[in-house]
Amino acid sequence: MTATNPQSGSSRRGGFDEVHILWISEGMSCDGDTVSVTAASQPAIEDVVTGLVPGLPTVHLHNKVLSPTVGGEEFLAPYRAAARGDIEPFILVIEGSIPNENIHGDGYWTSFGNDPDTGQPLTLNWWIDRLAPRAWAVVAIGTCAAYGGIHAMAGNPTGSMGLADYLGHDFTSAGNLPIVNVPGCPVQPDDFMETLTWVLYHAAGTAPPPPLDDQLRPQWIFGRTVHEGCDRAGYYEQADFAKDYNSPKCQVKIGCWGPVVNCNVPKRGWMGGLGGCPNVGGICIACTMPGFPDKFMPFMDMPPGGSLSSRAIKPYGSFIRRLRGITNATANTEPKWRHNRELLTTGYDPHYRP
Ligand code: SF4
Ligand code: SF4
Repeated sequence: MTATNPQSGSSRRGGFDEVHILWISEGMSCDGDTVSVTAASQPAIEDVVTGLVPGLPTVHLHNKVLSPTVGGEEFLAPYRAAARGDIEPFILVIEGSIPNENIHGDGYWTSFGNDPDTGQPLTLNWWIDRLAPRAWAVVAIGTCAAYGGIHAMAGNPTGSMGLADYLGHDFTSAGNLPIVNVPGCPVQPDDFMETLTWVLYHAAGTAPPPPLDDQLRPQWIFGRTVHEGCDRAGYYEQADFAKDYNSPKCQVKIGCWGPVVNCNVPKRGWMGGLGGCPNVGGICIACTMPGFPDKFMPFMDMPPGGSLSSRAIKPYGSFIRRLRGITNATANTEPKWRHNRELLTTGYDPHYRP
């Protein structure tokens, strides 16, 4: 479906003092993105909700894992109010892929609270249909919400899809923003918090909209490949490839997709700048990509392009590695005039003595 929004005029421009974040992880989800975000430090989510980040609006966060409320109707109240149009502005964060409830047969694929009149479960799709058109911004956290992810792979029975597949790729929110996708399985915590902070500054009226690429990802985060930020890239250039997972060398021959995957994790690390899949021995399985996982399986086999590129680079890389070995040995030797003998052999010219 393609949703339209009911708001216009000043509400589109921002300048808000307070913003609600309505976060729903009742999609086809493991809640891994919520858990991941608790590790963020640039900024930390607790700093955002406690007002420690200068210039942000006051943030009211509603997330079932991070909520101070016990749950049940107390937790659902702001969602029900927003669906009625009684809360605004709000940012809708969707975690998990969206199943196709047109094909659920007699049951349902997801539920988030019950209909008070009928007692029947309300599906994620029911909530998205009501909340997305009213949301000032809509953010998909994680690859499942962004593109469908693991639940949407070939052979799945639920017809799962990403948020843009559900709402339409040309959807715009009440704040006139496209869907903002922050993929990752799970999302890199600071990637998400940095993006959310940008959206919040935009809501405050102090920043332009975040720049997104054609897959609706933040450009500054997903504009480069894993390979371009990988600690092992020097090995690749010298055609020095790992044969097993204990090696510190380039992993392209043991299944790394880094050269063709948009992700900043090797640069940024996972928590506090540490980690980052290939840097610490994990091949890149392309978890941020719209084609994940089908286009990258079976994992741990050499990617077809990796086979070609590693063969092509072998003559250059092997030759350069040998040359550099010679230069490195030279650079590791001190000049011969540094000695404690009777004679000065530095080449010093006494002509310059005062
Ligand atoms: S391990 Fe992967 S990302 Fe790193 S240099 Fe090798 S191919 Fe590139
Ligand atoms: S480096 Fe690859 S596997 Fe690791 S988070 Fe990025 S896309 Fe996912």
